[in-house]
Order: sequence, then C-alpha cells, then structure tokens
Amino acid sequence: QAKKHGRNTYHFYTPEMTQSARERAQLDRLLRHAITNNELDVHYQIKMALGSQATPSGAEALVRWTNPELGAVPPARFIPIAEESGYIVELGEWVLRQACSQLALWRAQGVDIPQISVNLSVRQLERADILETVRSALQENGLAPEMLELEITESVIMDADDAISVMKQLSELGVRLAVDDFGTGYSSLSYLKLLPIQTLKIDRSFVVGIGDNGGDESIIRAVIGMAQSLGLSTVAEGVETLAQLAFLQQAGCEQIQGYLFGKPQPADVFLEGWNARPLT
Ligand code: C2E
Ligand code: MG
Ligand code: MG
Ligand code: MG
Repeated sequence: QAKKHGRNTYHFYTPEMTQSARERAQLDRLLRHAITNNELDVHYQIKMALGSQATPSGAEALVRWTNPELGAVPPARFIPIAEESGYIVELGEWVLRQACSQLALWRAQGVDIPQISVNLSVRQLERADILETVRSALQENGLAPEMLELEITESVIMDADDAISVMKQLSELGVRLAVDDFGTGYSSLSYLKLLPIQTLKIDRSFVVGIGDNGGDESIIRAVIGMAQSLGLSTVAEGVETLAQLAFLQQAGCEQIQGYLFGKPQPADVFLEGWNARPLT
C-alpha cells in the first residue's frame, strides 16, 4: 500500500515508517523528563511598534529544548508530539510561569518591558483549570493581567470545543488575546467578530512574499484593513528585511517581529538588546 506524498513521491509502509514512529516515541519519552532534568529554556524575541520610528513594545516567549542525547530539538518537532501526548499542558504551564516570573524580574530591575506574549496550545485551552493557572501565574508574580498576551493559533480556535467561551473568560480576567499565524486557517469575518481578541498576528508565510508576490501583499493589506475595521491591532511575524519593514509600515501594520530586529534569545541576551534600543 502506497501513500501519495507530494508530486511523484510515494512513501511505502516500510521500516522507514516504523522508524519515524519509533523516533516520535523516543522524543515523547525523552521530552517527559525535560522539565525535571532542566533541559527546557525560554527564549525571548523582541516585538517592535511601528510609529514614526520602531520602538520596542514587548517580547514573545518561545520554548527551547536541549537534550544531552539529541542536542537542540526545534519546537516544530516536539510541540506537535507534546500536543498529541498531552504533555504540552505541563510544558505550556512551565513556559507561562517562567515567562511571567522573568517579566516580573525585569520590571523589578527597572526595565520597562510592557508586555510578554506566551503561546497557548489547544490542549491548554481545553483544560477546566486554565483560568486558575493563568490567574495564579499573574498573581504569584505581581503582574497586571494586561501585561500578559496569550497567542492562540487560528486553526486551533476553530477546532477546540468551547474555545470562544474560555477565551471570553480569559479576556474578562484582563489578559490580552492574539490570533497567531493568522491567514493560515479559514476564519470568516463574522467569526472573527465573535472572538474576544485584540490582535491578529499575520503569518510569516505572507511576509515572505513581500516584494515578489502580489497575492501575499494583497492579503496583508486586506488583513490589516479588516483588523482596522474590527478595531484590532496587527503584528507581522518573520520580518527579515528592510523592504518588508517598509511595506508593512506603509500598509499600516502596527507591530512587527522578526530576525530584522532580533532572533529569540536567552533572557540575558534579550535584555542587552532591549536596553540598546532608543527609548522613544
Ligand atoms: P510561533 O508562535 O508562530 O512563533 C514564531 C516562530 O517564528 C518562532 O519559531 C520564531 O523563532 C520564528 N521566527 C521569528 N522571527 C523569524 C524570522 O524573521 N524568520 C524566521 N525564519 N523565523 C522567525 P520557533 O521558536 O521555532 O517556534 C515555532 C512554533 O512552535 C511557534 O510558532 C509556536 O507555534 C510553537 N511554540 C514555541 N514555543 C511554544 C510554547 O511555549 N508553547 C506552545 N504551545 N507552542 C510553542
Ligand atoms: Mg506565537
Ligand atoms: Mg506565529
Ligand atoms: Mg507562524
């Protein structure tokens, strides 16, 4: 039996398939010890607000896993496995608490970082105790709710049961909500109107097309226009070039994030970068 996998490529259910299944099982097994073995770390990527000039506006927390046996494993490989096994709930809560305590520490040191963004998985959103988890993470670190933004992937919002009602409760708590990877799902305007969100994060796949794909440019303009009419803020992710920056600024995008302004970095390196920026 053959499974069609892209153009002219057939993958057979041979030992290779078994091997990839074995690899996933191995990752799953090793990942379950990652927290207790201190193998996880949180990196921070700067977000910039685009006014007459770009000014730092916050940071996104991104988890990193370095295993002694495997080395650095990218989130794209282990997050889906953690979501499948359910371990993402524990992992996600660890990242949330880590990010909140880091922000509190920076603020206690007099560094005025207004907001931290943390990715929330569908599995976390489905947990009855998610509100309590978020509330206690804020409280234990003395953070005002609006200092925390939770990023939820567009497709997830439509897949999860009760996602909207949980998001409403989170929003009532005062935390900010953003739709991550926007444009890759199929949200309609009327659906978007129902969500208690403040921000749309335009997916990197559209930003990549700036300058040579008119379709991507049109989509970006349309998303920004739609966001503006719904009273939502926009963030473009994956901005790597000055040409992309110029296009986004001209199109009215409010914030940007990408290697152009900084890669995700360990907390101390991130802070050096933050302090090196002009204050106005
Ligand atoms: P995301 O939330 O959309 O995060 C943005 C990703 O784009 C990050 O990849 C970041 O390193 C990368 N990126 C940022 N700027 C640029 C750029 O200019 N060019 C390029 N090529 N890439 C850029 P990363 O850290 O590998 O994370 C991938 C995904 O894994 C994230 O996508 C998010 O969906 C997930 N993830 C990461 N950390 C967590 C976490 O703590 N919890 C959950 N649930 N998911 C996480
Ligand atoms: Mg994100
Ligand atoms: Mg994203
Ligand atoms: Mg993305």
